[in-house]
Amino acid sequence: MKNLKQLKSLFNFIDGSPTCFHAIANLEKMLEDEGFVRLDEKDIWEIESEGKYYVNRNGSSIIAFVMPAQKPAGFHMVAAHSDSPCFKLKESPEIVVDDAYLKLNVEKYGGMILSTWLDRPLSIAGRVVVKSNNALESRLVNPDRDAAIIPNLAIHMNRDMNKGIEYNPQVDMLPLIGEAASKKEFLELIAKEAAVSPEEILGSDLFLYNRDKCRLIGIDDAFIAGPRLDDLECAFAGMTALVNEKPGNYINICAVFDNEEVGSRTRQGADSTFLKDVLVRICTKLGVDEEGYRRILADSFIISADNAHALHPNHQEKADVTNKPVLNGGIVIKYHGSQRYATDAYSAAYMKDICKMAGVPYQSYANRSDIAGGSTLGNILTSQVSVDMVDIGLPQLAMHSAMETAGAKDVDYLLDAFRTFYMR
Ligand code: ZN
Repeated sequence: MKNLKQLKSLFNFIDGSPTCFHAIANLEKMLEDEGFVRLDEKDIWEIESEGKYYVNRNGSSIIAFVMPAQKPAGFHMVAAHSDSPCFKLKESPEIVVDDAYLKLNVEKYGGMILSTWLDRPLSIAGRVVVKSNNALESRLVNPDRDAAIIPNLAIHMNRDMNKGIEYNPQVDMLPLIGEAASKKEFLELIAKEAAVSPEEILGSDLFLYNRDKCRLIGIDDAFIAGPRLDDLECAFAGMTALVNEKPGNYINICAVFDNEEVGSRTRQGADSTFLKDVLVRICTKLGVDEEGYRRILADSFIISADNAHALHPNHQEKADVTNKPVLNGGIVIKYHGSQRYATDAYSAAYMKDICKMAGVPYQSYANRSDIAGGSTLGNILTSQVSVDMVDIGLPQLAMHSAMETAGAKDVDYLLDAFRTFYMR
């Protein structure tokens, strides 16, 4: 059975998180409401048993953790990502067309399905950096309006439109935002959101986002459709489970990283030292020496949670012959012979054991042997923090579309599995 209350919370979270910066701010709010204490990487940390803490890096990645009452055996970690493929505004983005239109110069962030961004209401959100009280300060912006649209070419101007089109991101995908006379208004709109004047904005990370909201789909409400389900579903479930469970013998951690869609190699990505830095600092505070740190890692586990491809109703031939997960079929354990997914026999068994204890279904995913497939956080994290790890996700369709489809029951399954993991 699907839990409508939980789904509503998920929908509110995704609808209110048009960019990675907003997703992290919303997760932070969830943590603050539950009494988690913010730790700044620049400060000396105070960590107590049964304490609840979080660390934010760049406003786009977060690591939250809960200390157990007794001496911890290791870390129980869930990892997910905060970013989704979208369009990023370039510097000086305004382009005037024929003295008539105003459009924006944008570039691709990640590998999205370009055509899904056409002909739908869009807006602009992200963060700006301003100088305030002699210091640089980051402020979130999200003007709540249908500010942009990327219009298709009429079929009369391209009769081959339905035979497959190669879209050029520099030509076909620039959003129309108004009339030429509105040129000054774009920056004014962003500045107003940040409560500054346009001249005070010194830097910005602004993105286009789909204005559609999450919703139930199907004559039986069996599915959900919404933007950014990959990977905000997993980020939401991980953090919700963390705040709701008391740890057993382990330090519970939920880490949500930015920049997965562009390779994770940033200061706040999964390929940075962020997670390792936090683990080392926790251990230092516990008085654990180098050998102790390695002993703790040897008794730790990471569930890397990033959505997975479900069997497509119109393209069964794209699925593997024996490993084809379906929507509402439960948690997907991902396997890859060349280890692009971190799952192995041990970590798969560990995950299945958790699912059985939680009473939730699980299924398996592998690429067809003649399809390359994608990668995820798991094996990237291993280079910094080498612990037993499983790659899982929720089954979904149309991954990296502006509007993705998933199962309405699966979120609950994931939440229950995470809660069981965190209680261990
Ligand atoms: Zn993902």
